[in-house]
Amino acid sequence: MDFELNEEHRMLRDSVASFAAKELQTLAEEMDDNDDWPEGLWRKLGDLGINGITVGPEYGGAGADILSAALACEELARVCPAVALSWGAHANLCCNNLNVNGNEEQKKKYLPRLCTGEHVGALGLTEPNAGSDAVSIQTSAKKDGDCYVVNGTKTFITNGPDADTIILYTKTNKEAGAKGITAFILDTKFPGFSVSRRLDKVGNRGSQTGELFFEDCRIPAENILGQENRGVAVMMSGLDVERAFFSSYALGIAEGAFALALKYSKERVQFGRPIAAFQFIQGKLADMYTQIEASRLLCYKAAIMAGQAERGGKGTEVHKIASSAILFAAEMADRVCEQAVQIHGGYGYCREYPVQRFWRDAKLGTIGAGTSEVRRLVIAGELIKG
Ligand SMILES: Cc1cc2nc3c(=O)[nH]c(=O)nc-3n(C[C@H](O)[C@H](O)[C@H](O)COP(=O)(O)OP(=O)(O)OC[C@H]3O[C@@H](n4cnc5c(N)ncnc54)[C@H](O)[C@@H]3O)c2cc1C
Repeated sequence: MDFELNEEHRMLRDSVASFAAKELQTLAEEMDDNDDWPEGLWRKLGDLGINGITVGPEYGGAGADILSAALACEELARVCPAVALSWGAHANLCCNNLNVNGNEEQKKKYLPRLCTGEHVGALGLTEPNAGSDAVSIQTSAKKDGDCYVVNGTKTFITNGPDADTIILYTKTNKEAGAKGITAFILDTKFPGFSVSRRLDKVGNRGSQTGELFFEDCRIPAENILGQENRGVAVMMSGLDVERAFFSSYALGIAEGAFALALKYSKERVQFGRPIAAFQFIQGKLADMYTQIEASRLLCYKAAIMAGQAERGGKGTEVHKIASSAILFAAEMADRVCEQAVQIHGGYGYCREYPVQRFWRDAKLGTIGAGTSEVRRLVIAGELIKG
């Protein structure tokens, strides 16, 4: 067992870290204030080579593994969680999904422009009445000639307001439950698609989240991703990778908040000494560090195993590990950020200090991509089954 990253992973991590320090540090505050996605940022992420990080080079991607993607996500989140979130939806939920499940024509048609950042990707599963119970989605797709006619509403869709390409889950057979779900590749220029509203969130501001409306939206049958009524297979194929991605999002947030708290504790003087000299503060710092390092091991293990499983290995162990990684990382980030605010005292509660932004951003980790409660159900289900 070797706990060191190899040279390729280190180089990738360092290049994303220096990009984040140079390009995102100032932007992070502006995005939080204005709730806007910066013009030209998708192209910059494309130039960095990470928009299609796991996509094959023949389609314009970097052909890297899931651990590389997790490391990139961690480095983006350490500085600007909102960018990490949107990038994750683009690079993982859309591009990686297409790369794994798309046919040759679909990959050639859609992936190159997603990799450069000319196009923005998203994934539309959640609906106003179908969140944790994802298979109860109601958005319908009815066959009509060589098209499917889609009607319904999706909500909470990251990048939804800006997206060009959306992996869209629909019901093609309402009576068949999970066996009646079909995934499509939606080009947002197809008539009948619209963005009904942009959601105003308390965290991850700047990452665009939207409600999408489909009114007789015609999608060509050739845009089915996978097979008709086999959408759950597409959904399941990406779940563990998504959990690994999202764990590293939470890990990066915790690291960002911890760095601010550590620095502040050495600078802030009370009772004639830096507050870092007080044992209550030292205990917090030690606990935060320990939780982050424990989470890192679980996150990286999940990323490696999810990558192996995607290439056809492993079995059910990965569901447990990936679900545990995201459960632990998300709740850890929540705790670490709360403690980081506490170390900042009253200044931590003011918007001019960035630590509160991490605190708000961290909360999404226990909700998005499956809640903490559902993650516990998945882990327990696997344990009992086993
Ligand atoms: C900022 C943001 C970005 C998102 N991005 C995307 C995206 O890009 N694409 C997409 O498709 N979706 C996206 N989502 C949706 C996200 O996946 C859902 O919010 C999440 O799955 C939870 O669904 P819900 O919000 O409807 O909550 P609900 O399912 O209504 O849950 C409400 C509460 O009930 C609990 N609960 C539900 N069922 C059970 C159960 N069986 N046992 C115990 N407790 C239960 C939950 O844990 C939660 O505490 C995003 C959400 C947010 C907030």
